[in-house]
Amino acid sequence: MENIKIKYDIIDLVCDEKELFSNIYSCPVCYEPLFKKQIYQCSEGHWACRECFQKIINSNNSHCMSCRKKIGSFNELSRNRGLELMIQSKKIHCPYSFSNIWCNPDEADFEKQNNVELFFDLDNGCKETFKVEQLNNHLEKCNYRFVECSNFGCDEIVRLNKIEKHQEICKFARITCRDCETKIKRIEETDHTEVCPSVLIVCVQCNQSVKRCYLKDHIENTCEQGIIKCKYGDCQSVYKRNQLSNHLKQVDHSESMKRIIDLQEEEIEQYKEQLKESNERCLDLIKNFKVIDRIFTNYEESYRNKWEISDFKQKIRNFGVFDSILSLSFKIGFHKFYLGISLTGKDGFNNKDTDHFTLYLYNKNNIPTKVRCEFEVINHIDKLKNKKIEFSGVFEKTYEEQDNYIEYVVSKLSDLSRRNGFLSNDSFETLSINFSITVNKNNTIFPLKN
Ligand SMILES: [Zn+2]
Ligand SMILES: [Zn+2]
Ligand SMILES: [Zn+2]
Ligand SMILES: [Zn+2]
Ligand SMILES: [Zn+2]
Ligand SMILES: [Zn+2]
Ligand SMILES: [Zn+2]
Repeated sequence: MENIKIKYDIIDLVCDEKELFSNIYSCPVCYEPLFKKQIYQCSEGHWACRECFQKIINSNNSHCMSCRKKIGSFNELSRNRGLELMIQSKKIHCPYSFSNIWCNPDEADFEKQNNVELFFDLDNGCKETFKVEQLNNHLEKCNYRFVECSNFGCDEIVRLNKIEKHQEICKFARITCRDCETKIKRIEETDHTEVCPSVLIVCVQCNQSVKRCYLKDHIENTCEQGIIKCKYGDCQSVYKRNQLSNHLKQVDHSESMKRIIDLQEEEIEQYKEQLKESNERCLDLIKNFKVIDRIFTNYEESYRNKWEISDFKQKIRNFGVFDSILSLSFKIGFHKFYLGISLTGKDGFNNKDTDHFTLYLYNKNNIPTKVRCEFEVINHIDKLKNKKIEFSGVFEKTYEEQDNYIEYVVSKLSDLSRRNGFLSNDSFETLSINFSITVNKNNTIFPLKN
C-alpha cells in the first residue's frame, strides 16, 4: 500500500502569503489548481487555464468570461508565464507534515473535509518545504508518508519510517514457535502454547519433562513410576514399572508359567488346524474363480432378428452414389449397431458401375469390438435357395465423425427379383433378411472416458 495518494488543496500546504495565493492558485473558471496547467489571458489581462479558453474558443459564444471581448483563436491570447512561474515556485509544506491529512486505503476517505483546520505533526511529521512543482517527486520518496501494515489482518496505518518498529510488535506478524517451529501470528502465541505438541510437560508420576505429543505414550508404556499389572503367570500383582525386576526376583512365577505355556501349546495346535482348513478353502475358491474367469472370457453375446424392406426395387430405383437404406439400431451388450444397404461396384467401391447390392453393419457408439455376422437373404419361393452369407470383422476405435462400419458385397442387383423369389411375390416386393450378429466379449476394449 505504498504511495497512498492523498487529496488536498494545494492552498492548504502553502507556507506563507496564503491569503494572496488563494486568489491565484486555481483557475477562476473551472476552479482546478493551476500548478500543472498553462495559463492564458485576454488582451485585458483576464486569465484562466488553457483548457477553459479552448472551450470558449470552440463554443458559439467565444467571448472573454470577464470583459466580453471577442476571442477568435489562441492568437488573440497570450500565455502568462510569469503567473505560471509564480505558482510553480510557491513554497509549500509536505502534506505529510500534518497529523490530520489522514489517509485510509478506502479512497472515499481521502478527501479533506472543507473547513477542517490542519494541524502540524511537529513530533512525527515531515519537516520539508519545497516548490509546488517538486511536490510529486517528494511524495514518492517521503519517509513520512502513511502506509498500511502489510500483515494480514492488521489494519494499522503508520508513517513509513515507523513501519519496521510497528511490525516488531504487530499482533498479526508471523513468528516462529521456538518449540515446534510452526509459523503462527504473534496474537496466537498464548493459545498455541496451550496446544503446542513440542512444549515440555512435566509427568506428574515421575517428574520427568516430556514433549506434549509423547506424554500419553510415556504414561501408558514407559513411565518408570507408572503402575502396571504383573503379566507373568497368573500372578495378578500390581507394582510400579521400575519394580519389575525386583518383583520377579522375589516371587517365583515358574509354576504358573509352566501351566500357561502348556495351555498356549494346546491353543497353538488348534490354530494350526484352523489355518490348514482355511488354506484348503482358499484353494477351492481359487479353482472356482478360474472356472468363472474362463466362462467370462469366452462369453459371447448374439443378436438375432429379421430385417424386412418393402418396396425394395422402388426404394433403390433412384439411388445416388452414397444413398443407402438404414435399419433401426439394436443393442448387443454395450454395443449399438444398425444395418445398411447400398449399391456399389463389384469390389465394394461405389465409384464404378453401382449394380451390386452391398450389406453394411455400422457400429454406432464407436466401442472397439470384434463381430461375426450371419445373414440369410430369404427366398420367398424355396427356402432351400436362401442365400447365406457369413463374414466377420473388427471395429477399431475411430476418430471420424461418421459411424464405423464393415461391409459385404452380396450379389448383383439383378439377382433380386420377384420371379426368382428373393422379393416377395405380392405388391410389396419385400426383401427379407435374417441376421445374427455375435459380439465376442473377449475382444471388448473399453475406451478411456473423461
Ligand atoms: Zn480553467
Ligand atoms: Zn477579458
Ligand atoms: Zn515529506
Ligand atoms: Zn501491523
Ligand atoms: Zn509450537
Ligand atoms: Zn512419568
Ligand atoms: Zn508377578
